[in-house]
Amino acid sequence: MAEQKRDYYEVLGVSKTATEEEIKKAYRVLAKKYHPDMHPDDKEAEAKFKEASEAYAVLSDKEKRAQYDQFGHAAFDGTGGFGEGGFDFTGADFSDIFGDIFGGMFGGGFGGRYRGASNGPMKGANIRTSVRITFLEAVFGTEKELTLNLKDPCPKCNGTGAKPGTSPQMCPKCGGKGQVVFTQQSFFGTVRNVQTCPDCGGSGKIIKDKCPDCGGNGFISSRKTINVTIPAGIDNGQSVRIREKGEPGVNGGPRGDLLVEVIVSPHETFEREGFDIFSVVRISYAVAALGGSIMIDTVDGRIVYDVKAGTQTGTQIRFRNKGVPTLRNKEVRGNHYVTLVVDIPTKLSKEAKEALRRFDELTGDSLTAVERAGKGKENGEEPEKKEHKEHKEKKKRFWEK
Ligand SMILES: [Zn+2]
Ligand SMILES: [Zn+2]
Repeated sequence: MAEQKRDYYEVLGVSKTATEEEIKKAYRVLAKKYHPDMHPDDKEAEAKFKEASEAYAVLSDKEKRAQYDQFGHAAFDGTGGFGEGGFDFTGADFSDIFGDIFGGMFGGGFGGRYRGASNGPMKGANIRTSVRITFLEAVFGTEKELTLNLKDPCPKCNGTGAKPGTSPQMCPKCGGKGQVVFTQQSFFGTVRNVQTCPDCGGSGKIIKDKCPDCGGNGFISSRKTINVTIPAGIDNGQSVRIREKGEPGVNGGPRGDLLVEVIVSPHETFEREGFDIFSVVRISYAVAALGGSIMIDTVDGRIVYDVKAGTQTGTQIRFRNKGVPTLRNKEVRGNHYVTLVVDIPTKLSKEAKEALRRFDELTGDSLTAVERAGKGKENGEEPEKKEHKEHKEKKKRFWEK
């Protein structure tokens, strides 16, 4: 087939010295423009798409590109994989291009599995767990011991999964490659697709006599104790990453990570918002009115605070740098905001009540204000009067409780 083929560089519209990135970019543009899904039944678009895909398959592969640069199209005649009217896409990496343009429309062929079929070293999976700590542990940081089941390569078979004295056999289906190639008819013509080998799951090996300890999977689980350093300033829901304490890697790859989510128990006094701490402190009426010293709890311990005479309820005071340390620098901390709430007594002795009435007489006589306002009015028909009376009753009830 393929007499008078156009030059691959010309097809993609790039120079002979184009970088991998430029080639990918050029192909991406063409693939989007001519994709058969966007031009149903358009033979010309289909042909252009095919041409561009072929050019990209060669130029994106270092080895194939070098061959092409040296020998031109002749490099692939016959044995190169272009024979039989089809095109061999083996080895061309379409996964990220089709991954982001078409979202894996090629199914098993060019989608994520294409890359996953490789049986090279792969990082193990991450493991997630959680740990509960107190509010103060979150503020100042802590060390925790976690006990969990971790997989390790089986010592009996050294992780091969084969019974000692035997070894895994090469998978006859894929010849140890971990991938199988199959041919498919499609708008490209005949496409040779690559898939993970169904017999060996991509490992390229078949275990006939399984290791008795691990049952052939090459790993055994055991209880492990792991120390976790939880940094000062961590907040509820944040995670600590412990590198390489996750699942073992595959084919010599590194272990995955252990992600420990931190759950912070609420504190009975302190609340947290970002790196600031909030709390409410109740003060007596006398302290609010006359001023006086009170004790205030902070995460650093109790401090003595002098309340100014005439402090109103709801007054907020700020203690700078008494909040939560920031994760980056322990010395940089949020603030602690304390709201002073004036306590209204609910239980008073007879003497205390008497003293309050006396106090009221001396400070504006609020208890008898309504009574005094009603005096001198001839008739008590004003609509306000009833209301005032109720008010007074209520007030009376309140103080006499
Ligand atoms: Zn084993
Ligand atoms: Zn296989």
